[in-house]
This record gives sequence, C-alpha cells and structure tokens, in this order.
Amino acid sequence: RRRIGVMTSGGDSPGMNGAVRAVVRMSIHMGCEAYAIYEGYEGLVQGGDLIKEMKWEDVRGWLSRGGTLIGTARCMPFKERWGRLKAAKNMILRGIDALIICGGDGSLTGADLFRSEWPGLIKELVDTKELTQEQIEPYKHLNIVGLVGSIDNDMSGTDATIGCYSSLERICSAVDDVFDTAASHQRGFVIEVMGRHCGWLALMASIATGADFVFIPEKPPRVGWEDQMCDIIKKHRSRGKRRSIVIIAEGAHDENLKKITANHVKDLLSNKLNLDTRVTVLGHTQRGGQACFYDRWLSTLQGVEAVNAVLEATPETPTPVITIRENKIERSNLMEAVALTKSVTAAIEARDFDKAMQLRDVEFKE
Ligand code: ADP
Repeated sequence: RRRIGVMTSGGDSPGMNGAVRAVVRMSIHMGCEAYAIYEGYEGLVQGGDLIKEMKWEDVRGWLSRGGTLIGTARCMPFKERWGRLKAAKNMILRGIDALIICGGDGSLTGADLFRSEWPGLIKELVDTKELTQEQIEPYKHLNIVGLVGSIDNDMSGTDATIGCYSSLERICSAVDDVFDTAASHQRGFVIEVMGRHCGWLALMASIATGADFVFIPEKPPRVGWEDQMCDIIKKHRSRGKRRSIVIIAEGAHDENLKKITANHVKDLLSNKLNLDTRVTVLGHTQRGGQACFYDRWLSTLQGVEAVNAVLEATPETPTPVITIRENKIERSNLMEAVALTKSVTAAIEARDFDKAMQLRDVEFKE
C-alpha cells in the first residue's frame, strides 16, 4: 500500500491542521497509508518517533484548531545535502515516497530541491552501503506536492494561502478593540501588523477597518509623506473623527527602502498634530487562534486535491502546488509560483514599485 507523508514547515498558520486532517483522511480513503512527519524537516532528518502513522481518528477535531499539531520547525540540516541524505534514508526505511508539505516558499523550494536530488541521494545511499539496491528499488522517484500555508498571503499564483483569512480576522477584531479605546480618549493609534515583504494583511485590514492611513512595502509613500499623512488625519479630525488609526506593515519602508517604524509614525502624530498617540504591535496573536470558516474550507479542499495530485503524478510531472484561483482549486507549477513570488521581492529591492504592484495584481489609482 502506498505511503504518503504529510508535514507542516516554516511559520505556522491557522488551517494547517485542517490540511493535515484532509490529507490523512483522503489518503486512507484512497487506500493508502498516511504518515505525519513531526517538526517539519527535522522529523525527516531525525526519523524515529517523529514519523508516525496516522489513522482516521488521530486527526479528529483538528479542523478548527490553530497552529499546527504536528509541529513545525526551521531545520538547518535540511538545507545541507547531508541532511537531505538522512531524510531520504529515513523515508525509504519507512516506505514513504510521497510527501505533501504545507508551508511557505522556503519550505516548498526545499521540497522541490529534495525531489530533484532524490535519484542521486538514493544512489549514494547504496554506494555507501547505507541501503541495499533491493531496498531502494520500489522508491525510484519521490513525489512532492505543495500546499501553501502562510498568514501573509505572500505566494504568487494563488488568491489565498491557508491561514491568511484567519489572521486577517484577528487583526480586524484587534483593530476594532483599539478603535473603541481610541475614540473614547480621542487618541491616535499606530498598529503594526505582520506580513514580511507582503502588504496584503496591512492593506486588507486597513480597508476592512476604515483606517486613516496605511504603509505597505509594495507601494511606499512618496517623499513628503509625513505632511501628507498629517494633512489627511487633520482633515478627518476636522470632520469630527475622534480616533486616528494608522496601519503599518512590518516590512514598510520609504522609496529609498529606509524602514518606516511604528514609533517614527507615532512621533509624527504626537509632535506635528499634538495627538496622544500609542503604538500597538499585534505580534503573534495574529498567528494564533482558531481557523476561520474560509481556512477550514480551503485546507480541506486543498488537502484532498493534494492527495489526488500525488496519486496522478508521473516522474515527468513538474512538482505541483495546490492553489485557488477565482474560487477554483487548481494545480500549478510549484517552482513557477515560487519564482513569481521571488520576483516581487526583487522588484521591491530594485525599487521598481510599479512592477511590484503589478506582480501582486493590485491596481493603484490615486
Ligand atoms: P517558509 O517555508 O515559511 O518560507 P523558511 O524559509 O524558514 O519558511 O523554510 C522552512 C524550512 O524549510 C527551513 O528551515 C529549511 O529546513 C527548509 N528550507 C527552506 N529553504 C530551503 C532550501 N533552499 N533548501 C532546502 N531546504 C530549505
């Protein structure tokens, strides 16, 4: 019986458990055995107890749970060939030649590399007498399928990553809470949200909460933004608004890539507008908590599709990543999606912000 491994890797996100549950149950449904790889790539490299067969009832109640119940880690050895060699050996010893990985672009890049090296790795294991020819014979090809788990919604080629909508929910409700106190005291608040190089969470949260101003990495404010921001907030105040909210992405910077910090924005509001202003960094609360409806739905459908992709793959099929586009669950070319994602970061670093926005598929009109 075919053995399919499932793993969560990189930063955790709500919905990862739903993905694991779907993969486990769909694998069993399709007559395969399911194995959870605990602690991300660490589990593959170490093997032993970190690779565990999962039965149907082992994932009961997982759908709504936040974080990842099989653990995740950043694993340095997997970035080295010797680490991947150990991983290959552990997989063959357990009879696993298909892996479904839910993680960010780093994890998925590592997975694709592992797959491309696989024939060389198993040959080396035989040459060094770690394994015999008979042992490797049934496992000539490694099958990899990617699922994108990230709160940042930073992967190109998919409309939503598993976890981004749960995170957005939490950010919106935190901003709502801050609104109440801000309005009571007529305060200003600068709220920093996560997202690394991606401004999706900040932009969506600012629209959903009616914030006064937002900073995102893809579209830095123009020179003179300090006065522009203050003018806008002053105008809103003159119309009777009792609170001022500025949302800032953690990766925000100006046109010269100089970081814009929440404290700097706070000082501007305090000094130029005489507003009693506080900074709130939402931090890890954004990652935690239950998965929202959307992430339960998305992780379930994508987990099922990932198992289908494993069962239909041939050695020639380029490594797929499961995406969602215009509400349809699809398979895309993993490395193309990763390359497109990297090109956004490259455009930002080259200060070509129009290109960055275009690559993010956002139309911007002043
Ligand atoms: P994310 O998947 O969220 O982008 P990371 O970039 O930290 O997170 O990657 C998570 C783990 O995936 C790393 O700790 C490492 O084990 C593995 N990994 C990432 N990039 C590579 C790579 N280029 N080659 C091999 N393994 C990688």
